[in-house]
Amino acid sequence: MILVLSQGITQEEKEKLMKTLNSEVCLVKEIKGVEETILGVVGKIRRDIGYYEGLPGVAKAIPISKPYKLVSRELHPLASIIKIGDVAIGGDRLVVIAGPCGVEGRERTLEIARAVRSSGAVLFRGGAFKPRTSPYSFQGLGEEGLKILREVREETGLGVVTEMTAPSQADLMVKYVDAVQIGARNMQNFELLKCAGRMGKPVLLKRGLSATIEEWLMSAEYILSEGNDQVILCERGIRTFEPYTRNTLDLTAVPVVKKLTHLPIIVDPSHATGLRDKVSPMARAAIAAGADGLIIEVHTHPDQALSDGPQSLYPHQFEQLMRDLYVIAPVVGKQVDYTYLDKGRMFQRLREPGAAPAATAPVAYSGVPGSNSHKACLNFFGAEVPLQTCASFRELFDLVDREEVNFGVLPLENSLTGSIHENYDLLLEYDLKIVGEVTLRIKHNLIGTENAALAGIQRVYSHPQIFRQCKEFLEQHPGWDLIACRDTATAVARVKENNDPQDAAIAGEEAARLHHMAVLKEGVEMNPRNFTRFVVISKQGALPGLKNKASLIYSVSDQPGSLFETLRVFADHRLNLVKLESRPIHDRPWEYLFYVDVEVDLAAAEHRQLLAELQAKTEYFKYLGSYQKGAAALPAAAQG
Ligand code: PEP
Ligand code: MN
Repeated sequence: MILVLSQGITQEEKEKLMKTLNSEVCLVKEIKGVEETILGVVGKIRRDIGYYEGLPGVAKAIPISKPYKLVSRELHPLASIIKIGDVAIGGDRLVVIAGPCGVEGRERTLEIARAVRSSGAVLFRGGAFKPRTSPYSFQGLGEEGLKILREVREETGLGVVTEMTAPSQADLMVKYVDAVQIGARNMQNFELLKCAGRMGKPVLLKRGLSATIEEWLMSAEYILSEGNDQVILCERGIRTFEPYTRNTLDLTAVPVVKKLTHLPIIVDPSHATGLRDKVSPMARAAIAAGADGLIIEVHTHPDQALSDGPQSLYPHQFEQLMRDLYVIAPVVGKQVDYTYLDKGRMFQRLREPGAAPAATAPVAYSGVPGSNSHKACLNFFGAEVPLQTCASFRELFDLVDREEVNFGVLPLENSLTGSIHENYDLLLEYDLKIVGEVTLRIKHNLIGTENAALAGIQRVYSHPQIFRQCKEFLEQHPGWDLIACRDTATAVARVKENNDPQDAAIAGEEAARLHHMAVLKEGVEMNPRNFTRFVVISKQGALPGLKNKASLIYSVSDQPGSLFETLRVFADHRLNLVKLESRPIHDRPWEYLFYVDVEVDLAAAEHRQLLAELQAKTEYFKYLGSYQKGAAALPAAAQG
């Protein structure tokens, strides 16, 4: 049962309510939402629902219709993010766990760990206790294997995930690993589930070989009911009549589970298919289906592997898969972050005593939660980093300039409508550096109140840039009044406030979800290949990772061939120019500044001469910074 608390509940009423509930039922869980606080009440509820609704401080009592309670979306409408060390599963950055089936030996395990880490894995897998079909097969190295896993963590920084096959291993798990896996064969080993629930470590719960989704969620409920919320579900294929693959990967489970529970779900295409050449296609499909991540078996010498060699990817195949995922992820609103662990370490250093203090949060953006800038922050830095909002791009530049925040995130260019000139002008004015880039696919939706219909709309709220990105759709409705707002999420907030079925906003689906509004029409942008390039600016902060792109602003003398002379410098040095745009210089009519992006780190020593040549051929010259290219292009780290 869910009890929605009244807005004005007093502390005294709340304490009394808790006392009443605790004396009657097993478990009460408080969940604070954006707008309301609810109590999840599970166990034997003896009285009629009306009784609870009548208690002082209770606004509404709603029965939970599903047999699983704590894991259900009804109780917890927002998706949960589960952390394993610095890695957060369920957010915008994909989490790929990779490693051998079993830990076989120190050198080999470390060799595999180094390989998967360099290709973008953020956690390491490897069994030390192997549940094998045959008692004569390799059973794992036991504690010896766990010690090797600890060494993997120490050397590579990868958190380690391993299977626990019996409650008696709990102490060893607590001592050596970052997360425990409950294997498919043990999904309904209830004593083991209860033990995992009491351990306080994140649990990766695999789906049983012949378990229904409901049985699987009931197993998760066992873990949560013991007080451990840190559960990640893992679809690993089920047993069917089909013999061509080891199991049948039930990808439908991904959207089904997403709807039924707030827990994140990852997919194991290795055990699902059992065949090396089927692993990558199913991994790509899993991400397209909305999975939060993958767990994949990788081995440097699969022919010598002591278990599951035939389904283990070679490191070069894993690397290729990660490159594909890097391109696929933005299409479904996510990113593969090759600097995930390095960023985590950087933020840890920023939190250490003595580090230059950021006032309230290390990262800021202009806008409100649910806006595209907010999404860009989540894609680039993850949900764990505290964010500060501000009301305008200028305010954002000021915050970064005064070093009240370490980083600012702002949009610079859209693939359908071009540059955001206000921000280019601010980059010119302030002495800040571009240190990172992230590309988001932008999908726009017409969003209204629950009772609104497309035919009844009269007014549409959004940012003017967004109206241009949706030009063709808006032209089909010439009668609509278009009302400009600061950003898309503000537009949704206004429509919600007006509560008029004639009003609608154009924004992303996050904003609709956040404000509990209805999507009246999905995908109204002119072209689905609609990407916005955001950059990260900083006063003196640097981001980890390779730098393979740089931005410049310059002007040239008013003489024939002067622009050509600067371009010749790039050509002579065989550099790829990816952007060249001219902008009028304020106060000097008909004179222009040129904005240039090149695919190279211009700060590197080998380009010093090029920079000197360019400076000699320009009148005004400003180097904006070097950074790693965002998705939709491959990072050098991933280039073979
Ligand atoms: C494993 O991940 O090594 C494993 C044994 O998987 P499953 O429990 O899914 O068979
Ligand atoms: Mn295996």
